[in-house]
Amino acid sequence: MLEAQAFPSATQQFVSREAICAVFGETYDPVSWQDWRWQMRHRLHRLDQFEKLLSLTPAERVGLTMASQRFAVAVTPHFAALMDSEDPNCPIRKQVIPREEELVAAPGDLVDPCGEDQHMVVEGLVHRYPDRVLLLAQDACAAYCRYCTRSRLVAQGDLNALPKRLEAILDYLRAHPEVRDVLISGGDPLLFSDDRLDALLSAVRSVPSVEFVRLGSRVPGFLPQRITSELAAVLRRHRVWLSLHFSHPRELTPEVAAACDTLADAGVPLGSQTVLLAGVNDDANTLRELFTGLLKLRVRPYYLYQCDPVLGTSHLRTSIAKGLEIMGQLRGFTTGYAVPTYVVDAPGGGGKIPLQPPSVVAHEGETWVLRNWSGRLFTYQDPPQA
Ligand SMILES: *Cc1c(COP(=O)(O)O)cnc(C)c1O
Repeated sequence: MLEAQAFPSATQQFVSREAICAVFGETYDPVSWQDWRWQMRHRLHRLDQFEKLLSLTPAERVGLTMASQRFAVAVTPHFAALMDSEDPNCPIRKQVIPREEELVAAPGDLVDPCGEDQHMVVEGLVHRYPDRVLLLAQDACAAYCRYCTRSRLVAQGDLNALPKRLEAILDYLRAHPEVRDVLISGGDPLLFSDDRLDALLSAVRSVPSVEFVRLGSRVPGFLPQRITSELAAVLRRHRVWLSLHFSHPRELTPEVAAACDTLADAGVPLGSQTVLLAGVNDDANTLRELFTGLLKLRVRPYYLYQCDPVLGTSHLRTSIAKGLEIMGQLRGFTTGYAVPTYVVDAPGGGGKIPLQPPSVVAHEGETWVLRNWSGRLFTYQDPPQA
C-alpha cells in the first residue's frame, strides 16, 4: 500500500468522514464507507449539506443555488473528504462546487465546445476521426466536474438509456468496418453494474472490425470503492484499456492507489487525462507531482487538455501561453513517461491539436537548429540528399 500523497499541513482542515456521515444523520462506519453503492447513495448535492462541511464563500453559495439548476451538482463522500473546509482556493472544491462565475458567459464560450453534436452519427455515437468513435455510455457520473465538456448532455436527462440506443450503434459499427477503435466514455461507464458492463463490452466486441476498446472514467478517482476484483476481471476479459481522469496530486489517496493496483494487477493498461485548470493545477510543480505520482501507481499520463471553452467555465481556464510554459518545465526535467501530450480540442469540431514549446529554432537545407529541454541549442544534420 502506498502512503497518501499529500499529508495535511497544520493549516489544512480536511472535511472528516464523521462530519460527512453526520450530514445524513449517520455515524461513520468503515465498512459502509468502502461500499460503492453506499457512496453513491450518500452523495452531496445541496447547499444545506455543504454548509455543514465547509465555510462557504458567497460565490459558492450563489453557485449552489443558481448554477446548480443549470448543471447538476454531486460529490461522493470519498471526494468530499479531500476538501479543505477553510480554504476557498482548495483545488478539490474548485472542481466540484459551483461558483457564481458559472453564470458568466465569456466571449467564445460554447455549449458544445468540441462540436460533438455535428459529428453524432447516431444518438450517443460521435464519429470524427477516420478509424475511431466515441460512444457515450450514459448520462450520469459519480460526481460532476464543473468544467465538464459535456455538461449539455450529462445529467440533463436527454440521452436515452443505452439499451434503447445500442442496436443502432452496433448497426453503425457493422456498416463502418473502418472503425477499429471504440472509446466508451462519459457519462461514466464504470457506474454500470458488472453484468451490464460485461454485456456492453461483449456487444461492442461482437463487431468483427473492432480491434481496440477503451473506457474513459473518473470513477477510480471519484469512487475508488467501485474498483473491485470482479470489475477488473470483466475489463481484463474484454481486453479493455482504461483512461482515468485526475486533476491534482491530492486525489492520489491510498484508496485510489489500491484501485489502480487492482486494475494494473489484473492486466488492465491504465492512462490518465488531466484538464489544465486555473488555480487547481496550472503550475509545473503541481503537475509534476501529479504525473510522477501517477507513474508510481502504474498509470501513464496520456493527455493534458487545454480546458474547453464550455459556457460558464472562463474562471477555470488558463491561457495557452501558460500551458506551453508549463510543458517547457516538464519535458526533460522528468521522464517522458510523466509528460503527457498537451492538446487543444479545437472549438468547432476540429479534434485534438497537440501543442509543445517550439524546439525547431531554424531549418535550412539539411541543417536543423534545435533547442533542448534546458534551452541550449544543438545542430542536427540530415543525411545528404541523393
Ligand atoms: C478524443 C476523442 C477520440 C479519441 O482520440 P485519441 O487521440 O485516440 O485518444 C475519439 N473520438 C472523439 C470524438 C474524441 O474527442
